Amino acid sequence: MAWSDKSHPYRLLLTKQFPLGLETLPIFQPVMQAANRIWNSCAWHSREIFKQEDRWPTEAELKTKFKSFAAWKELHSQSAQSVVEEYFEAVSAYRKHRENGHLEMNPPGFKPKNHLRTVTWKRQGFDVDGSTLVLKLSRGKEPIEVVLPEGWDVVVLPDGTEVKGVPVEVKVKAVIRRRRVENLVLHVTLDLGVVPVYRAGAVSAYDYNSAVVARAVSNGRLDLFVCRELLSLVQYRNKIIAGFQEKISRLKEGSRRWKRCLSAKVRVLKRLDRRIRQMEHALTKLSAELDGAEGVAFAVVGDLTGLRRSARTGMKGKKASQKINQMAYDRLRQEQHYKNLTRGIETDTWTERNTSSTCCLCGARNPAWRRHRGLWVCGRCGLVLQAGLNGAANLLKQYLFGSCTGRALCLQGSAGLALGREAEPVCASISKGRLSGTWSSRDGSDGPLREAPR
Ligand SMILES: [Zn+2]
Repeated sequence: MAWSDKSHPYRLLLTKQFPLGLETLPIFQPVMQAANRIWNSCAWHSREIFKQEDRWPTEAELKTKFKSFAAWKELHSQSAQSVVEEYFEAVSAYRKHRENGHLEMNPPGFKPKNHLRTVTWKRQGFDVDGSTLVLKLSRGKEPIEVVLPEGWDVVVLPDGTEVKGVPVEVKVKAVIRRRRVENLVLHVTLDLGVVPVYRAGAVSAYDYNSAVVARAVSNGRLDLFVCRELLSLVQYRNKIIAGFQEKISRLKEGSRRWKRCLSAKVRVLKRLDRRIRQMEHALTKLSAELDGAEGVAFAVVGDLTGLRRSARTGMKGKKASQKINQMAYDRLRQEQHYKNLTRGIETDTWTERNTSSTCCLCGARNPAWRRHRGLWVCGRCGLVLQAGLNGAANLLKQYLFGSCTGRALCLQGSAGLALGREAEPVCASISKGRLSGTWSSRDGSDGPLREAPR
């Protein structure tokens, strides 16, 4: 199951997979190969136009050009169009990488003749008849009928409720291992409608750092997840890539040994990626479960778009920029988003400005107080805290009050720290370097509530 739509933040879209079995291969093979031919013509025409006119053709240009092609007439028109759209996504990703200085990137290329390309059926490309899915081909061709098991459109949410979804997209993918087709899998994306999210409740903030994930909740709780194993896997993956890259560069392109080396690289990386994904899922599931158990209504993650850009421009040291780019933050955020949504929790991004260079307790800012290895020692109030936890607490403050600097927390039980002019009675108590206590909202009402920002 995966989250698949960015434009509808409250709409829950989940994908279910159904293995079709190898006996369906003769039915789907011609369709998948036709899609592959469309992809190859896309690659060919774009290259020609780029060579002659020094520009990439537009999507509409290619679509109208291919309308008369034989391969186009094999597929449902929307399925054929989606191949062109996928090609364009690949081209724009390639161009973006080039713009960012990755000159080693190659434009999307040709696939072998017998490659089985994933075929997509959009909403108008299929019909549902009970538990039978009718996948349409081009006009005049017999559609493909797939019988699905009972309850194929039902998804069970974490709290046990069963939700019936409406299929919005169907894909057929080939599972290939060691150059052999092992199975065909049907991916059905179900629209489960707009999920009701809690409009009031606690707020949790997350600070994703390469080795640790820190979490701060508005009920005063601080958590630290050590993700060494995940990070070391990611670093190991980079090492493997570098090793293969060196080996491949010494071989003649297109030679038998080159091909063997390339397929070995793909195989090893696939296996590693599965382990990395599994760990990421475990992490995001854990945080979603914690949020659900603690009555969190909003989960806040740092908005990293600005950070990444500065890392790329070399404003940070080489070591730092490598660390920043190692974890797949966007993927983690997306996973957290849909896992939270199934529990009625909204995920929000918020600026991380100054959160790592401000003391969460007294609100004084000084980047130098962030010592080595994630240690935060405040030069004003003497707070000693793990830097990630400090960052997460500041992100939470920032989200609740707009800014994290110049705003102190008052100490419960003690004489009370001097509060800033407009500071709200935000209370916390410190014991053994851990913060606990309660935060209160802007209007100072009872309990850690935050109204919906809409
Ligand atoms: Zn301080």
